[in-house]
Amino acid sequence: MSAQDEAPRLDFIREIVAADQASGTHQGRVATRFPPEPNGYLHIGHAKSICLNFGVARDFGGTCNLRFDDTNPVTEDTEYVDSIQEDVQWLGFSWDDRLYYASDYFERLYECAVRLIRDDKAYVDSLTADDIREYRGTLKDPGRESPYRSRPIAENLELFARMRAGEFPDGAHVLRAKIDMASPNITMRDPILYRVRRAHHHRTGDAWCLYPMYDYAHPLSDAFEQITHSLCTLEFEDHRPLYDWLIANVTGLPGRPRQIEFARLNLTYTVMSKRKLLQLVEDGHVHGWDDPRMPTLSGLRRRGFTAEAIRRFCDEIGVAKRENVIDVGLLEFCVREDLNARSPRAMAVLRPLKVVIENYPEGQTEDFEVASHPDNAALGTRHVPFGRELFIERDDFLEDPPKKFFRLAPGREVRLRGAYLVTCREVIKDAGGQILELRCTYDPLTRGGDAPDGRKVKATLHWVSAAHAVDAEVRLYDRLFTHEMPGSGQADFLTQLNPNALEVLTGCKLEPSLAAPAAGARFQFERLGYFCADQDGAASRPVFNRTVTLRDNRATLPG
Ligand code: ATP
Ligand code: MG
Repeated sequence: MSAQDEAPRLDFIREIVAADQASGTHQGRVATRFPPEPNGYLHIGHAKSICLNFGVARDFGGTCNLRFDDTNPVTEDTEYVDSIQEDVQWLGFSWDDRLYYASDYFERLYECAVRLIRDDKAYVDSLTADDIREYRGTLKDPGRESPYRSRPIAENLELFARMRAGEFPDGAHVLRAKIDMASPNITMRDPILYRVRRAHHHRTGDAWCLYPMYDYAHPLSDAFEQITHSLCTLEFEDHRPLYDWLIANVTGLPGRPRQIEFARLNLTYTVMSKRKLLQLVEDGHVHGWDDPRMPTLSGLRRRGFTAEAIRRFCDEIGVAKRENVIDVGLLEFCVREDLNARSPRAMAVLRPLKVVIENYPEGQTEDFEVASHPDNAALGTRHVPFGRELFIERDDFLEDPPKKFFRLAPGREVRLRGAYLVTCREVIKDAGGQILELRCTYDPLTRGGDAPDGRKVKATLHWVSAAHAVDAEVRLYDRLFTHEMPGSGQADFLTQLNPNALEVLTGCKLEPSLAAPAAGARFQFERLGYFCADQDGAASRPVFNRTVTLRDNRATLPG
């Protein structure tokens, strides 16, 4: 067998699924789900879970449900429900008609709880929250049984019904599973299954004042949907015995899902806790969930990241059981590779310096037809006008260049990309010594950029014709944090925000083909990086976001 024929190595989850399928567990069926809580926007960490759950279903001929885990009415909102659906679809996955809400199961979940009570496996506890905590014990000390633990079944049934009916104030009673107060696993010390909470739910309104706990609702929802492999992140490892206990002890469930934990994605220079992301939004450190500095899918999308690049990134990082931290440079690498292959090229001058070509006839212009991509002919060509007055990038000129600076300088000849060789003849300054413009000459024999006598120049600059230039705003984005692990140790992550994560440049000059880009259109601005048209732009004045620079300058060693 040649190397090419070898099946790709499966990650540990796909190995389990493959073995289950081979042995006929679940009759060979594979069903996964992506279960976001609608209390925030999805982020790049969720992308890992989405790619895994939908990817496993795809790879094994199974199905993947989208289920909103909306059991906590206080923090949830339909704005999040809508954004999550948009983001999953944008990433390239489809739940078809399998869109579910844990809140749709409230009645069924309640019935399951009644069955647990009837089977003497759950009881109504009337201790205060503080007492429950105190009775629970610690890692070292076993818990103590609540005096209400031995309540007769009939009394439990009656109290639970009255909890639902709204006869008790919030916190007066809870429903607990009757498991083991001496368990070394604190999760198993009679976990709370239901609490009374008068809160308006974004879907069920005020129909309920009794809400199930996540640890109770999640395994049962999985069972209702006949999920086979319930993939979750490692922090739920300690909860797995409770998951299994519920699946084993609630009678009449239609499925027997198995929980498998994997390591969550952590990225350098990035925070991913929804609580922290919400704080960034609410305290105005960013301009919203879709701010291009945010690691949210909507932020990355607005920044210009492609779904393909994010999926590739998720493939590259793989799935494992051990916690680790991925270099955000890998995500940037994936987006650079993808954008390099697909983005049309264009010329844009971000910090313009005027150049007058003294020997170019006044009023004359000419058109250069330039390929939009060096090796993707399908992207076609565009027309770039040239004239007597041009803009070049301010930092492409130095009056007194150091040894290694090869770009424009007094007396020096360089190439204007695709146009002509030009030589700088004179520097015009204002009274304060600020450079106002350069006077250059061009060599008419170098049309297209090459000299017939074969003389070489050491630099090729991008440029824009002044008479045709489109004025634009360009937003340069950088990493949101200056610290590799924001908030680690004693640090407050907010003190590690990068004040230069956004730099807004106005008065940028674009070639005319960029005049009215569709929002979301992506380009490589030659020599500068990848840029994406922002929704804030208008026909008269486009706005572009820098997605990434062309190269990872941080990795370049000085010299
Ligand atoms: P919080 O940030 O408040 O802890 P969460 O990240 O768990 O919330 P959920 O909406 O519950 O948010 O997540 C939905 C799914 O995405 C869960 O299965 C969760 O395990 C997974 N997920 C969340 N964050 C990551 C991450 N960083 N890497 C991989 N999977 C993740
Ligand atoms: Mg969660």
